[in-house]
Amino acid sequence: MVKVDVKYTKLFINNEWVDAVSKKTFPTINPQDETVITQVAEGDKADIDLAVAAAKKAFHRYSPWRTMDASQRGLLLLKLAELLESQSRYLAELETLDCGKPVKQSEEEVYFSASVLRYYAGKADKILGNTIPSDGEVLTFTMKEPVGVCGQIIPWNYPIPMMSWKIAPALAAGCTVVLKPAEQTPLTALAVAALVKEAGFPPGVVNVVPGYGATAGGALTHHPDVDKIAFTGSTEVGRIILGAASAVNLKRVTLELGGKSPLVVFNDADVEKAAQIAHAAAFANAGQCCCAGTRTYVQSGIYDKFVKKAAEIAEKRSVGNPFEDVQQGPQIDEEMYKKVLNYIVAGKEGGARCVAGGDKVGDKGYYIKPTVFADVQDDMKIAREEIFGPVQSILKFETFDEVVDRANDTNYGLAAGIITNDITVAMSFSKHVRAGSIWINTYEHVTTQTPFGGFKDSGLGRELGEDGISQYLETKTITMHVPKKPE
Ligand code: NAD
Repeated sequence: MVKVDVKYTKLFINNEWVDAVSKKTFPTINPQDETVITQVAEGDKADIDLAVAAAKKAFHRYSPWRTMDASQRGLLLLKLAELLESQSRYLAELETLDCGKPVKQSEEEVYFSASVLRYYAGKADKILGNTIPSDGEVLTFTMKEPVGVCGQIIPWNYPIPMMSWKIAPALAAGCTVVLKPAEQTPLTALAVAALVKEAGFPPGVVNVVPGYGATAGGALTHHPDVDKIAFTGSTEVGRIILGAASAVNLKRVTLELGGKSPLVVFNDADVEKAAQIAHAAAFANAGQCCCAGTRTYVQSGIYDKFVKKAAEIAEKRSVGNPFEDVQQGPQIDEEMYKKVLNYIVAGKEGGARCVAGGDKVGDKGYYIKPTVFADVQDDMKIAREEIFGPVQSILKFETFDEVVDRANDTNYGLAAGIITNDITVAMSFSKHVRAGSIWINTYEHVTTQTPFGGFKDSGLGRELGEDGISQYLETKTITMHVPKKPE
């Protein structure tokens, strides 16, 4: 077992490390061996009140943050990106310890997160309003202003990237932040908070309060001084948050929620390449990915060949100690581990054909074999519900229209993919499938520059790209009387 030094376990409020008001702590668990890594301060309503007060003070009109040039905000974000990269190995090991993903992947995610910070650093002084030729003897223009104090609630599956997706556009826009990491993975958010301070952000601009969803998360979503909530997590909790956000004031809300994304493979595809793409789509991050392509639709002409290949690739996937060179570590926690194993049982009992995996790995840690089901029907539980584990469901189809209807027959709409050499088919698919991201002959190609988010029950609003920062801005329209319009 690799030894990783855990340096920060307290709440980060107003650039200080503090215990919870209640003095309570909670354990964070190593998913490799189910042991307690350390105890972390457990934030609750009293701590959220303190953090929000700090964020509100930092947002005051005469504060160092509000009076800072926009370009300087960009420079602070650039500095934070640099610090993240300089600590990439440490952050990656801490991430792997806390959430079990392969350490090489964790390190790539640190670099990706730095690129998100850099993208929004560049945007900070390019937030523009309009001048508008409005009717009457007036001059009208708009200003884009920061929304205010933002509550940001993130999940455990990509802790550092999720933090960067949340704080980077908020800070570029000039907002202040209270971030609550997932209770399963509080450690890297605290380590990044230390870098926020080192980068030179003024006190109160970023606050990090670990704690549980119903308590710390609930306090944040109900707080009257919070102007916006940005959330990534399950659709179930997304609904609760939308309700809470309108209970005491009308918070702006962005939600990145679950999915059950289809990846459709047509007869003209290269079976080997298509099976590789579909494998990565289903199994990336041990299947703990909101946009995972978990419904693999394969056209009848290549169906048998594809199933054989998909099973072969899954059987070869290396699962084990994430500090070694493996493709897959353990699932995040006991609850998810049991949930995924129950879905595997449901698949078998429901009549799907298990052609790879189908069981846990060993008796210690939350490891599950990459599992492939063939002959899955649309009404089976494993085809309808988000599993969030290493399980691929393969379904057979005949025609374009049939598969578009079946792809759309879900309340989710986060992503979809298509593999074909026919550009007309690919473009028609892109037009008719109702999802926030469509990938053609590739999958999960998420970049800092491209908006990401869902249709239907997969969310509200978009993160990343130009759209991402607009969710942290209010438009103010200023209209001034002028004596006479120029000719
Ligand atoms: P979750 O919704 O239970 O938890 C996510 C976060 O919300 C955690 O920080 C948690 O403490 C907090 N939370 C829980 N209850 C809350 C409440 N009542 N009020 C305020 N905050 C609360 O989800 P999870 O099980 O941790 O993560 C897996 C789910 O997240 C999956 O369904 C997955 O699809 C989704 N997800 C979506 C995306 C995306 O970008 N769309 C990304 C990652 C995960």
